[in-house]
Amino acid sequence: MIPVCEPLLTGNESRYVEDCIKSGWVSSEGKYITAFEEKWAAYCGAKFGVACSNGTTALQMAVSALDLPAGSEIIMPSFTIISCALAVVETGCVPVLVDCEPDTWNLDLDAVEAKITPRTRAIMPVHMFGHPVDMPRLMQIAKRHDLKVIEDAAEAHGAEVGGRKVGGFGDLACFSFYANKIITTGEGGMVLTSDPDLAARLKSLRNLCFRPERRFYHTELGHNYRLTNVQAAVGLAQLERIEEHVEKKRWMARAYRERLHDLHQLALPVERQGVKNVYWMYGLVLSDDVPFDAVEFAARLQALGVQTRPLFLGMHEQPVFHERGLHVGERHAVTERLARRGLYVPSGLTLTIQQIDAVSEAVRASLQ
Ligand SMILES: *Cc1c(COP(=O)(O)O)cnc(C)c1O
Repeated sequence: MIPVCEPLLTGNESRYVEDCIKSGWVSSEGKYITAFEEKWAAYCGAKFGVACSNGTTALQMAVSALDLPAGSEIIMPSFTIISCALAVVETGCVPVLVDCEPDTWNLDLDAVEAKITPRTRAIMPVHMFGHPVDMPRLMQIAKRHDLKVIEDAAEAHGAEVGGRKVGGFGDLACFSFYANKIITTGEGGMVLTSDPDLAARLKSLRNLCFRPERRFYHTELGHNYRLTNVQAAVGLAQLERIEEHVEKKRWMARAYRERLHDLHQLALPVERQGVKNVYWMYGLVLSDDVPFDAVEFAARLQALGVQTRPLFLGMHEQPVFHERGLHVGERHAVTERLARRGLYVPSGLTLTIQQIDAVSEAVRASLQ
């Protein structure tokens, strides 16, 4: 069975982790935390990095840091992971969904302005599957309407728009370092910002909102969302090799495209002019003339020894939100189509050319 994703941990990870253990700095303070925060922020073009326990808590901290009044609306894509909507709902805000573009799977910027109301306070673009959102255009829309921007860059480490890295455009940007992301700490996340006040708020929210001048006196509820020095040690070693990881993903995408581009039954990932896609995972979408759906496609591939994963099910199709009176009766046609007709094939950083050949042949055979 060819696994859908495996991390690559062949750099300085063991050496740095051993250093942590030997030094005794295994908790959430230590030199690897600060080095990882500073270096990741610098890599993305932001001033401050605040490391945290995972990408989901990064999003929660980012929304909390904006300190928005209850009922504030945040515009986000319907096609995404639940972490985005969770962060919005848990902070007392309301997610307002926009459908995605059929080729990039990113939120449709043409549809954003129509969703802005007097209660809108922020936009949360998600750089989907490694393809960056057109951030210069999105930032202009946000500026025109005085809205904050929280980038979810959990799938797009190293992706660029006009030569600038994602994570450096928004007021806040969130990353995940889960094991299937482009660089990993096992579990981990980070919020980036260039605003010193937001950075201070993020640090406070991460650590139970202790007050610097009077530790056990609280004026606000925070969380324990800390990352450990040991995880940051892994992250620093991963960051040293990020260019290699990004190149590997781009190589994988080229190899799949060469082998699959003639199949009229499939839509393959794209790369728009002027951007750098980092192809987090290689997604395939069945054309309408294919007489079966992604569930059947996945079963056929499984039978041929190829693991796959489905694409996201839209936020408007989630019973958990319907129960809360959210998104009832909403339709987002592109998102619904991707959920039913899309999947992704093995895309890990350890993938070999022989595996890409085998997956491509299995895909071809499955479509017969
Ligand atoms: C993985 C992911 C997250 C959540 O990250 P975790 O570290 O798993 O909590 C958030 N947003 C997107 C787009 C993701 O792909």
